[in-house]
Amino acid sequence: MNRKVIIIGSGPAGLTAATYAARANLEPLVFEGSQPGGQLTITTDVENYPGFPDGILGPDLMDKFRDQAKRFGAECHFKHVTKVDLSDRPFKVWVADETYTSDTIIIATGATARLLGLESETRLMGHGVSACATCDGFFFKDKKVLVIGGGDSAMEEANFLTKFAAEVQIVHRRDALRASKIMQDRIMNNPRITIQWNTVLEDIEGNEADGVSGVSLRDTRTDEVRQEPCDGVFLAIGHVPNTELFDQVLDLDDQKYIRTVDVSSRTSIAGVFACGDVQDHVYRQAITAAGTGCMAAMDAEKYLESVAA
Ligand code: NAP
Repeated sequence: MNRKVIIIGSGPAGLTAATYAARANLEPLVFEGSQPGGQLTITTDVENYPGFPDGILGPDLMDKFRDQAKRFGAECHFKHVTKVDLSDRPFKVWVADETYTSDTIIIATGATARLLGLESETRLMGHGVSACATCDGFFFKDKKVLVIGGGDSAMEEANFLTKFAAEVQIVHRRDALRASKIMQDRIMNNPRITIQWNTVLEDIEGNEADGVSGVSLRDTRTDEVRQEPCDGVFLAIGHVPNTELFDQVLDLDDQKYIRTVDVSSRTSIAGVFACGDVQDHVYRQAITAAGTGCMAAMDAEKYLESVAA
């Protein structure tokens, strides 16, 4: 059956698009992807989503998003899209060898944690190296861990890790944090957190059986390399957009985010829309992602009316 709307991705953007599209009787089909609910499912408290004055757990918030979309008839599948063909309408979407077609596509595939590109980082991922404190912090009870990065994510991860770890060191490449003032204040007021300024991670020592034993850190002002013993390394250095499926297909910017046209969710192909972190490297908030998800559903509805007329 040809669809009116297929939504790829299920974070705040994808599921808001699903709610709006479903309420517009467009019977959207959502492919939730490899991380149903998106990045908020690996965070703890969400304190700044309007309407929840006492905060809400990320996974609970995303369950509410999904329930709301389903209430109006959105169909959500826990499937991962493996290929698209956007050269002609109806557009084609594959999940392994299953083919689906749709008159419009809403892309809400989000972004994934960025890595430094060290061999040791990949080898020890899941063995003392992690990009998600909420997922793995528990394993570092009474241990010493490092958090790499100077943004809000790094502050949040560091703070969260003090629930378990005895000592948390933030390693930041500059002498000023990028994080918001409130997050900085929390760090400065937490006696279990220290900051290594002007410092970069050069290598991680350890093995898959015993985990991490230490790291090599380089002072960016003197180039001096020193050893720092530790039990874990958490990477919080930003994100890369999940646009592999759309490379050479849609117009992407130099960081591979999908370019949208003017103040809209329209992409370089008519009938294909993008919302959330896959097209936004500036704001990247749940609320802004939800806002652009709403825009994408409304743009898709308008487009369907225009091609039917
Ligand atoms: P971000 O703001 O882009 O910060 C990334 C940090 O990693 C920066 O400090 C950056 O250093 C550092 N970095 C990047 N590449 C590096 C490399 N190769 N080596 C060493 N350091 C590197 O990313 P984010 O912290 O993930 O935050 C993303 C967005 O989500 C932001 O808009 C943030 O406000 C939001 N967020 C909000 C909350 C909250 O409000 N509770 C929580 C988490 C995230 P430089 O500073 O030198 O560039």
